[in-house]
Amino acid sequence: MSTIAFIGLGNMGGPMAENLLKAGLSVRVFDLNTQAAKKLEPLGGVVAESLPAAVEGADTVITMLPAGAHVRAVYLGDHSGGVGLLNMIASGTFLIDCSTIDPESARLVAAEAEKKGFEFVDSPVSGGVAGAKAGTLTFIVGGTDSAFKKAHDVLKHMGKNIFHAGNAGDGQMAKICNNLMLGILMSGTCEALNLGMDNGLDPTVLSNIMLQSSGRNWALELYNPCPGVMENAPASNQYQPGFMSKLMQKDLGLGMDAALKSQSSIPMGSLARNLYAFHNANGNEELDFSSLFEFYRSRG
Ligand code: NAD
Repeated sequence: MSTIAFIGLGNMGGPMAENLLKAGLSVRVFDLNTQAAKKLEPLGGVVAESLPAAVEGADTVITMLPAGAHVRAVYLGDHSGGVGLLNMIASGTFLIDCSTIDPESARLVAAEAEKKGFEFVDSPVSGGVAGAKAGTLTFIVGGTDSAFKKAHDVLKHMGKNIFHAGNAGDGQMAKICNNLMLGILMSGTCEALNLGMDNGLDPTVLSNIMLQSSGRNWALELYNPCPGVMENAPASNQYQPGFMSKLMQKDLGLGMDAALKSQSSIPMGSLARNLYAFHNANGNEELDFSSLFEFYRSRG
């Protein structure tokens, strides 16, 4: 049976690897945080002690890491002498990075992989932890047609919608646009709910009204930021992530970097990024990104 090496078993990678195991695939797991990797053991995941041990003899490697620096270090190596996996894997190994990172890092890794004869796709995801658990993620793939087809065969075990955005790095660019929109929508949703509550409205009643009106959006539908309105949302669980606030700040920063390069105007995204920067500076970076609601509720 072919073996998949899965690197990065955090809030997203953990449930994604779980779905590969549930589909009957052979999965070897590695995370710098051994406890995160060990959670996969009862389902049949083989815990590797190191990156080289994880990728040795694997047919496919999937990475799900926080940011571009982690992805570059894992694939290409780092300045402290760490060797990248492109120097460890056997010929024919197929590479999929599902992290959300800057398109330049994705294109760099794709080019370095190509030089060594490996196929690589960037394949960031949308759908959050709930989508990762349910196996209903959206994958947004950048790479060649043939690499997209190969990626599809693996990604179908973890997601429902699998899009080919274009060439290497284009998956990341599409994902950055999506999260720019999400950051703006979450900020706006927090703002509207807070305004209603400050003026005597019940947040559940207001949410139901907006859900059936033109203010309807993903945050209101699936991820209400006000505690108590939606039982399964992070807001009703002390804002445990979910999608950490620091990761939303990172993604909005990626949107700003891209806008500087293309000279695009993104006033709403820039404002949303600054709201998250303030919020995170106040010690909230490890909370779910919907905790921005508390920023609006606090009166200083
Ligand atoms: P996370 O911080 O929970 O998980 C990242 C994991 O990577 C951690 O367990 C960490 O120990 C591990 N890691 C870091 N460097 C490593 C290395 N060198 N070798 C091995 N393991 C390493 O983050 P997450 O929420 O799972 O997000 C992962 C990526 O997915 C991010 O790019 C994020 O922006 C994106 N994303 C997250 C969500 C979400 O809802 N959480 C949704 C869509 C996309």
